[in-house]
Amino acid sequence: MKRRIESEMIHGGNKQHDYDGSLTTPIFQTSTFAFSTAEQGEKRFAGAEDGFIYSRLGNPTVRMLEERIAVLEQGEKGLAFASGMAAVSAVLTSLTKGGDHILCSKGVYGCTYGLLQWLKEKYSITHSFSALSSEDRLNETIAEKTPACIFIETPINPTMTVLDLEMIARVAHSSGIPVVVDNTFCSPYLQQPLTLGCDIVLHSATKYISGHGDVVAGLVVGKDSYISALAKQEQKDSGGVLAPFDAWLLLRGLKTLHIRMDRHTSNATWMAEKLLQHPKVDRVFYPGNLTGSEGNIVEKQMRQAGGVLSFDVKGTKQTAQQMMNHLKMIKIAVSLGDAETLIQHPATMTHAVIPEHDRVKMGISDTMVRLSVGLESKEDIWADIVQALDRM
Ligand SMILES: *Cc1c(COP(=O)(O)O)cnc(C)c1O
Repeated sequence: MKRRIESEMIHGGNKQHDYDGSLTTPIFQTSTFAFSTAEQGEKRFAGAEDGFIYSRLGNPTVRMLEERIAVLEQGEKGLAFASGMAAVSAVLTSLTKGGDHILCSKGVYGCTYGLLQWLKEKYSITHSFSALSSEDRLNETIAEKTPACIFIETPINPTMTVLDLEMIARVAHSSGIPVVVDNTFCSPYLQQPLTLGCDIVLHSATKYISGHGDVVAGLVVGKDSYISALAKQEQKDSGGVLAPFDAWLLLRGLKTLHIRMDRHTSNATWMAEKLLQHPKVDRVFYPGNLTGSEGNIVEKQMRQAGGVLSFDVKGTKQTAQQMMNHLKMIKIAVSLGDAETLIQHPATMTHAVIPEHDRVKMGISDTMVRLSVGLESKEDIWADIVQALDRM
């Protein structure tokens, strides 16, 4: 019987192991695994027998998380990393070699931007940013310089515009180019890029999948052949593996992901509406407010609009900073997807590494603040923002 996604969030990929009937997966806090004989060790190293060897090559708690995320993203195989950036860097280096080109969405996470810079400086792996919004333009861009892969975020942080994943995957595949999606802002509950034809999906599990601001982690899902090679090469030899306890925290987070996302989204939708009407707010950026062709994309590929929104306050950078300083309940912090509402200033925080002219092209102004709407009462979050805007 095919289960609905809410049930899959709790049970999907949860294999029945006989750990004395333990309802939750135990934390296998071990670095190595003893073989019963030398021959068994030989077989495991040769890949002729399943089983664990050493926790950088696999661990039962971590493996359970990898199986769970693969089911939730509807992919063949998952792999866990020590951070979202360990996942991004493993995937990008696995798909490229010196001299290659990476085509990216117009905005990417600040450290992904930093990684692209040093890949260019050290290994001559170049990149370009493109709107990726029209099929004709995308065909032209690919024809001009065939990329080794296309790397996308949607919604794009922090301007919250969206890209048509199904269209991009179709165009890319006609030239044999793999499409990678950083699905951090959505989680598999809101958007499943693999079902839209994309090849590889990755997450900073630090955000919604953890949901409680207590772990830094990354996840990748894709085809069995690709993920197995990623595990054996990039991960085994560069070493960015997830710790068993952190995997256990994520297994716990997954079970409430759908309920948290429902609340994050309903709070954010309400907040976006209120902000639009406030006289000291200039513009509001939220997928749920998009109309026209972008609105259609949200409708087509996202279950809900999500919990992150940005807005421009009227005034200057200092006005935006003053507003943040007046907040009482809302915390000034980067990251997102936690129970607590978090606010940050992209131009001086998450996107500070991006040179000003690129940043402005991405639509990130000095007066923009980004809000990760938490799970508190929406009235209390709004009251905090209103009193801070009033004092600005
Ligand atoms: C946070 C984040 C990352 C990086 O993840 P870490 O877990 O902090 O390494 C990558 N992409 C996006 C969209 C993020 O928000």
